[in-house]
Amino acid sequence: MRKVEFTVEPVPCSTMPLKYDDSLCIGCNRCASVCQCDILLPFGKRGEHPIVMYPGECYYCGACVMVCPNPGAITLQHPLMNRAKFVPVKK
Ligand code: SF4
Ligand code: SF4
Repeated sequence: MRKVEFTVEPVPCSTMPLKYDDSLCIGCNRCASVCQCDILLPFGKRGEHPIVMYPGECYYCGACVMVCPNPGAITLQHPLMNRAKFVPVKK
């Protein structure tokens, strides 16, 4: 049987929505399975965390973080606008 090898290049993006901790991630790929936007692509090697293919498409739903069996293996890095708290102007 002929072996076919695929290579991928993550799409460049100014935002980094996800951060992986290699010391905690077991490479189970649950985060990749649950993402409804298919942003994550399972890594070819067993035990490695998925590749963040389309970081600009993430809408910060948090499903990937919630499904992870090892807390801290994957964390969301919300952009500044998501962290801001708007308050009414006092007159
Ligand atoms: S936060 Fe939601 S959209 Fe973003 S990578 Fe995780 S599951 Fe996908
Ligand atoms: S769900 Fe958690 S442990 Fe599994 S691959 Fe994703 S970050 Fe790693």
